[in-house]
Amino acid sequence: MKEKSLAEPKLIDQHGRQMNYLRIAVTDRCNLRCQYCMPSEGIDFLQRKDLLSYEEIIRLSRIFAQLGVNKIRLTGGEPFVRKDIMSLILQLNKIFKSIHITTNATLIHTYFDALKSVGRQRLNISIDSLDPVRFAMMTRRNDFERVWSNIIQAIDLGFAVKLNIVVMKGVNDSEILDFVDLIFRYPISVRFIESMPFNAHSSTEKYFMSADEIHRKIKLKYPELKHFVSDKNSASLHYDLPGAQGNIGIIPAYSRSLCAQCNRIRLTPKGELLTCLYAERGVDLKEKMRKGYQDEELKHLIIDAVSKKKKNGFEEEKMRKDNKGYFQSMTSIGG
Ligand code: SAM
Ligand code: SF4
Repeated sequence: MKEKSLAEPKLIDQHGRQMNYLRIAVTDRCNLRCQYCMPSEGIDFLQRKDLLSYEEIIRLSRIFAQLGVNKIRLTGGEPFVRKDIMSLILQLNKIFKSIHITTNATLIHTYFDALKSVGRQRLNISIDSLDPVRFAMMTRRNDFERVWSNIIQAIDLGFAVKLNIVVMKGVNDSEILDFVDLIFRYPISVRFIESMPFNAHSSTEKYFMSADEIHRKIKLKYPELKHFVSDKNSASLHYDLPGAQGNIGIIPAYSRSLCAQCNRIRLTPKGELLTCLYAERGVDLKEKMRKGYQDEELKHLIIDAVSKKKKNGFEEEKMRKDNKGYFQSMTSIGG
């Protein structure tokens, strides 16, 4: 049975936006090494003691639910590399109606039965190429066959599947239309994400392809491409095509044109609350919990942090002391 919701919408920022969507990065570890996300040698991964424990994640999730959060996403790193992840999902499922998960799909075949038993879960699956060789080049691992077969299985099993494709100019932009073709064959959403210069060691700016360019490319082949609004807070621009079973999303992650409708906050693997993807630092909720703060005190810290959320990612970026034009790996933030 679901826990009784005491939700009162309280997470309102200084620009009047309500934050009701929490993205929880459960680990910074991953079994892939996507070029745009992590250097081949990995990053300086957190030690276990520095990671939020499941008990701490559940405690914070209850607090966020009481503050009006009604949508959560588990991300990472790769959520399924964290030990016993199902026990966390089962507990979160008592607090939230559904759990959204972003995954690279390399390991989900061992979790399908368990995931089905907690309802119709939503899977956002990252796959940047339909060509096994390019996939291996982009992820630095040979897992294409497994990922593709898991995607097909997830669709067959009735999971709500969205594919996430980070578009890199000169690398996989030649496949944009191949991905679009998938929506005529499967009831899925394919979402093209602008690549952000997130990499601890090198800038990925030269690979940048804007949301406008991606849109133009699709429109050239499909002039009937039609914009629609599905969720006013979505980070994605949505499009559909006549005769398709699924739809298309374009996420202007770097152009930041949808910040005005942002409803997202993030919990990093080490327990920092980030009110923007571009924020350098956040409130260290783990430290406060381990110092013995009570729930009411944590609530006040969260309400205060959210109230100060900047107007958009550009303003947040201006505040960074380390403003080099590129940022730490997404795995430490949660994408
Ligand atoms: N491992 C899971 C996965 O890949 O789906 C979840 C974590 S990953 C950091 C979350 C999302 O961030 C993925 O869709 C990934 O493609 C995206 N991402 C990572 N680095 C990115 C970057 N530099 N620019 C845009 N999206 C990025
Ligand atoms: Fe791993 Fe996801 Fe980052 Fe790729 S994007 S390295 S799968 S965390």
